[in-house]
Amino acid sequence: MRVIVVTGGVISGVGKGVATASIGRILKEYGFSVTAIKIDPYINYDAGTLRPTEHGEVWVTDDGGEIDQDLGNYERFLSVDIPKTNNITTGQIYKEIIDKERRGKFLGQTVQFIPHVPDEIKRRIKEAGKDYDFVLVEIGGTIGDYENLPFLFATKSLEIELGKNNLVHILVSYMPVPSHVGEMKTKPTQQAIRMLNETGIFPDFVLCRAVKPLDDVRKKKIETYANISSENIISAPDIKSIYRVPLNFEKERLGEKILKRFELKPRKKPDWNNWKKLVEKIENPRKKITVAMVGKYVDIGDFSLVDSYISINQALEHAGAELDIGVDIKWIDSKQLENKKPTALKKFDGIVIPGGFGSSGVDGKINAIKFARENNIPFLGLCFGLQLGVIEFARNVCNMKAHTTEVDPKTKYPVIDVLPSQKSILAENKYGGTMRLGAYAAILERSKTLDLYIKTKRLEKDIKRIEALKKDKDQLFRLGLIHDAKNVVLERHRHRYEVNPKFIDILKKHGLVFPGYHVREDGTRLMEFIELPKHKFFIATQAHPEFKSRLGDPAPLFLGFVEAACCR
Ligand code: GLN
Repeated sequence: MRVIVVTGGVISGVGKGVATASIGRILKEYGFSVTAIKIDPYINYDAGTLRPTEHGEVWVTDDGGEIDQDLGNYERFLSVDIPKTNNITTGQIYKEIIDKERRGKFLGQTVQFIPHVPDEIKRRIKEAGKDYDFVLVEIGGTIGDYENLPFLFATKSLEIELGKNNLVHILVSYMPVPSHVGEMKTKPTQQAIRMLNETGIFPDFVLCRAVKPLDDVRKKKIETYANISSENIISAPDIKSIYRVPLNFEKERLGEKILKRFELKPRKKPDWNNWKKLVEKIENPRKKITVAMVGKYVDIGDFSLVDSYISINQALEHAGAELDIGVDIKWIDSKQLENKKPTALKKFDGIVIPGGFGSSGVDGKINAIKFARENNIPFLGLCFGLQLGVIEFARNVCNMKAHTTEVDPKTKYPVIDVLPSQKSILAENKYGGTMRLGAYAAILERSKTLDLYIKTKRLEKDIKRIEALKKDKDQLFRLGLIHDAKNVVLERHRHRYEVNPKFIDILKKHGLVFPGYHVREDGTRLMEFIELPKHKFFIATQAHPEFKSRLGDPAPLFLGFVEAACCR
């Protein structure tokens, strides 16, 4: 096993995740198998309970993990499904050790920071990387954070265990250009390197993030002051699309240099043709559309917003790249659409209602859906977006004063509700046990939705995946594949409420189509999609298809939505 450890210097938030994902993609292009781990030094067990406005979106894995969004970048760049065990937090490490101690597994030993904490960290890294040529380990936060230390110590120890030739350290650092001087400063990076050296780690490569490319003078300066060959100091300037990052790294021959450091030869010649074409389409699209994302986190400020829905932004971008269409996203605070006709939405080519929880801004979202339905504006609803789509239809077409019990527990028409089996669990406040998390199977009937899954070859792929799982009965059971069905797709979920089976007939009678459903063990059908066939594009899903969208392999519903929005 070979390990690449990525740490960050100077400040956080400079794209360490994208840099890590890009290195992985480059190694994959050279013919190696790659996986990636994100280490989050916080004490939370996972990202499930973190505020999205502070930490960005919660990423959901196939196996039901609620994880840091960086895992999303790894999956998008590497085109692999990464399991939840590839996100390690301080909380998990300590919980594991304390649980083990309580079970008497340490046989009377004093359980201590050293060696038990680094040992548990190393065990997890080795476990995650065992079937791959390379495992990338990104350590969250910045060098100098107290909470990083156990992880740095563990990777140093891993370096000794595996040998220097099997572990490479990469530092992603930031070079500020103070406006009053107008000069790019290398000193903070020199200091970050020195701080890393204090932990016994000497970075093999430094990736220099900055507004502009790094010149030779500055490369030389870092070489002189930090004892790293200027060959291994790589420029990483700001760019329009994150997908250009691996291409830029390759301009500096980063892949070859990393392989050389591992004393390895490329297994194949990289082929970036398709990737390059897609990036060019993102940067200079033939056509442009503007989509309204009616969300809830808007009032917290523009910057956090973009990250709160990062996978949706990416999925729209991937669909756009496929069609050579640029997708501009305008953030609309759903609270501003309450108690009035949302005529401001008229100018948009399409409307997206993303996932969400709680009552804030709900009426504005319902108003937006009504406007999209009545004015034939393409509409895509994701999770909460589907639930509110059903409520809107029940209210304005079926004439029921409908709601979700999440917002109005006493509603007379609970068209969205928790299943009876979940009610007793919820009554005991065990919220964690009632979420539907991770991949679940949906059976599709003839519809626009099915057509899109066929057109994008996703149906074919998911059926192949299910075939490959035929022997793994536990997995099939987890996905809900207890019935033989032809058109089955797998999408990821993160929700608690469902379309109430009691209201399906009446909704159908008024024209709402449910083109796909999940069958539970007890035979209950959970609705996975809604569709209005006569509308230009009115489709919503209980799932989060954005988590499976990749550059070059867009999510079916996003592709359909962008296409419909473009020829409006
Ligand atoms: N709040 C809704 C539920 O729990 C929708 C969740 C979501 O959009 N992810 O069912």
